[in-house]
Amino acid sequence: MIKLLIRFCLGGGRTVLQYGLCLLVVLAGVTNSADISQPYLIGRGISDITGPSYGVQMWGFGREDQLTEGLHIRQRSRAFVIVQADEPANRLVFVSADLGSIEHHITLAVIDQLELRYGNTYSINNVILSATHTHAGPGGYWHSRSNLGLEGGFYPAHFSAIVNGITTSIISAHDDLQPGAIHLGKGNLNNGGANRSVPAYMENPQIERDQHLENTPIEMTLLKFSDDSGDIGILNWHALHPTAMNYYNRLISGDHKGYASLQMEKMRGTTYSDKNDFVAAFAQADPGDVTPNTNLDNTGPGATDVETTQIMGDRQLQVALSLFENAREALSGPIETRQMYIDLSDYAVDDKFTGAGSQTTCPSAYGYSFAGGSTEDGGGHFLFEEGMTEQRMWLDVLIGWLTGAPKWTEKVKACQAPKAILFETGSGQPPLQSQIRSVTLARIGQLVILAMPTEITTMAGRRLRTAVMNELGDWAQHIAVAGYSNGYAGYVTTPEEYLLQHYEGGHTLHGRWTLPAYRQIASQLASALETDSAVTPTMAYDDWRGKSFETTLHSGAISPPPEGSHYGDPLSSNRSEYRKGETIVTEFWSSNPSASYVTGNNYMLVEIKTPTGWQIVVSDNDWDTTVRWRQKRGSFIAKLSWHTPIDVAAGEYRITHQGQDALSNVFIGISDKIQIN
Ligand SMILES: [Zn+2]
Repeated sequence: MIKLLIRFCLGGGRTVLQYGLCLLVVLAGVTNSADISQPYLIGRGISDITGPSYGVQMWGFGREDQLTEGLHIRQRSRAFVIVQADEPANRLVFVSADLGSIEHHITLAVIDQLELRYGNTYSINNVILSATHTHAGPGGYWHSRSNLGLEGGFYPAHFSAIVNGITTSIISAHDDLQPGAIHLGKGNLNNGGANRSVPAYMENPQIERDQHLENTPIEMTLLKFSDDSGDIGILNWHALHPTAMNYYNRLISGDHKGYASLQMEKMRGTTYSDKNDFVAAFAQADPGDVTPNTNLDNTGPGATDVETTQIMGDRQLQVALSLFENAREALSGPIETRQMYIDLSDYAVDDKFTGAGSQTTCPSAYGYSFAGGSTEDGGGHFLFEEGMTEQRMWLDVLIGWLTGAPKWTEKVKACQAPKAILFETGSGQPPLQSQIRSVTLARIGQLVILAMPTEITTMAGRRLRTAVMNELGDWAQHIAVAGYSNGYAGYVTTPEEYLLQHYEGGHTLHGRWTLPAYRQIASQLASALETDSAVTPTMAYDDWRGKSFETTLHSGAISPPPEGSHYGDPLSSNRSEYRKGETIVTEFWSSNPSASYVTGNNYMLVEIKTPTGWQIVVSDNDWDTTVRWRQKRGSFIAKLSWHTPIDVAAGEYRITHQGQDALSNVFIGISDKIQIN
């Protein structure tokens, strides 16, 4: 269009004056239309936050025997910075990170780093870090408030790697800011998950259930970002628990969300090293009771957990691709954010939100049914099961003896009724867990994003959306709930679901009135947004950085290879000939990847010989590759596998293994030649 108009001006038969005027008119029009069609400055960034790959307990299933052994796909931090073009102080950072949870100190540390660089441009008020909630990533990034080891230990090296990785992705996004447009699309996934706590869901009033055909949130909301260079990324929210990878898995993975991101980025040519890389964030929403294990027996549509991960990822990917093609609704209007800290150990909730008079929330406590785990997602400890509401003395004695956790108090038990209390974590001085929660409401044009530090069940999510939308004017057309954001505070069920004490109710930390409390908070934030009033901070976070009991990241064996071998030497048992479609396996003498922990590296490269030299085919980030370590008499062996596609090019290949020894010296091992026929 612009080119056409300029050609019109340059057309013959005009005086210099006419020509100048014509160009002025055209360019004025162009500037104006550019403002309207590009109301935002947008930047994107992506960086590696892959955790320590060996010997660290994975976050999510809480099983001490689920220690990392290697890598399937890398964990990434995907960041977007969105700025209101005509009011650049108004901006929002949204990060979706392949992590089980965002411990609040991660948010604080990232903001500290941003403040050092950008002053007060970014703060707790406009930064949302959201975890995809993968259960296939290592833990150990929690600041511990006790030496009970309930959080699985604190490894400063892992914490720093996450903070630095997320910060790097935000800095990239900031540096990438340029005028652009955001288009929104919505669509449904009809086989994208199943409700894993139907009996609890059925406790909600029939009149409310009748308003919905489904007992899970099936919608995906997608934002498509573009600038003058074309499409630069997507961000979508869809509710599905990343528990497709099971508790017996030992390889790091972003689960189905990580898979979907990886595939879409691959389609768009993302290299993970170029600042113009397309970023595809499949963020988490409110999947509190939504499982990918649709058979409800810890299995899904795939023959294995890896296959179920792929299938559930593909289903999200297909909807995302279609929304990406068809997203038509341009977002326009201000960017605004409101954030609040609340102490939920004793928070008064109005009758308007409880429907049962004034009530208060409780100091946090886990129920027996938390230990029972979600039966549909693999269950928990054999002594416990979902639905337990009766306190058993012998269990309490056993728990105290095994874990050293303090005994529950009558006061908290009464407040948390009918929860049978496993751990009371909210009443000590200081409490075992922070009681201060952060909630953010952000606006981008006609979309609002409610960011909460919790796992929200289907019906609870609906009530939260209503609480927010009730306060907002007609400008508010869409709402996305971003769970697992800026903290982790267990589940949120409805008060009705809570009474049944399914796993989700047993893990609703602040008692029966937890949801009404969050609805009240969300409603206050929405009202502040609508009336253009500020939210006055009433408290700061109880910052535990520097006060935590620290553990050295994997102090385990760092023994060198046996006499006569060196780091990176391929083992002599490696095969040298394969057929297309076979899985190529090569083994190398290696080091403990957690003892010399780095991110942004590659443990594995597959290369093909070409007339011009070796060319990379896949790396350790590909879905078809895995790296797995094992110990042999104290030395480490890395097993690199590549499941070759059936249409792989025949030829000569080699596989490279790269690692670091205990002194952080990089070693590179190259396999003998591998022939694929
Ligand atoms: Zn969960």
